[in-house]
Amino acid sequence: MDGIDFLWRHATHPMAEEMQLLNANDSDEPISCYCCGRPSSEWIVPLYQQRLDNYIQLNVPICAPCNALFHGSYQYMGIEKGTPEKPTAAGKLGMLVGCGLLVTQQQKILFTNPGWDKRLKTASNPIFEQHQVSGKGALDYALNLILELGNEAFPLLYISDLGRKKAELVANLRLTISKASINICSADSTWRLNTGLMQSIRTMQQHDKAGWKKLEGYIFRSCHGQIAPNDDGLHAFLNTHAEALTIARSLPADPHNKLQLLRSL
Ligand SMILES: [Zn+2]
Repeated sequence: MDGIDFLWRHATHPMAEEMQLLNANDSDEPISCYCCGRPSSEWIVPLYQQRLDNYIQLNVPICAPCNALFHGSYQYMGIEKGTPEKPTAAGKLGMLVGCGLLVTQQQKILFTNPGWDKRLKTASNPIFEQHQVSGKGALDYALNLILELGNEAFPLLYISDLGRKKAELVANLRLTISKASINICSADSTWRLNTGLMQSIRTMQQHDKAGWKKLEGYIFRSCHGQIAPNDDGLHAFLNTHAEALTIARSLPADPHNKLQLLRSL
């Protein structure tokens, strides 16, 4: 299932009652969502809302699941601007810069920072549980939470930062099927964390700290083009460190993903 449809089915669908939804089946013209780009035949529900696009100054159709990112709701999402006494704009899921989201088969959790936490808590009928944890600790916290889940929690969706670029976020949503590898989604990228590899690195970090520091240094410098892939020092090191060799062979090929992995440890 598409990530944005998963989010609708498991979390955001109650917002439908507040939206001005139209039925795509009532239209003589074919309709595609301006956010996800899918034709209406692929949507989980045939419903959409017309929204004004500020760049082209035209009304454009947004499918109901994508619209849940744009939709402002005091009841479900609290306030975005103003104070609880004098709110000036309602909270929107697609504007929570710096907040993460985990939706499993049983749970819906927003990982919030202090600023958003206060504003989201003014919601009278919140859709999401809130855990206040942000910055680098938030990814660690979410990963540990996911690793403790039972099989019945999967598939799940994990977003490390909701950001505010909705179309980019929707394009990057990938469900996580099992805890063997976790898809970490944001508007900037989606990358797959191999949790077996993460455990191997954590084990090496504990019992061979110097070896790991050396390997980490090589990975870091190679990602920044500072050592050649055929570097003699690297190969001499790997030939005498079986554990490091196994880890080096399991690393993601993309340098950007390698660095993301290092940052997540
Ligand atoms: Zn859409």
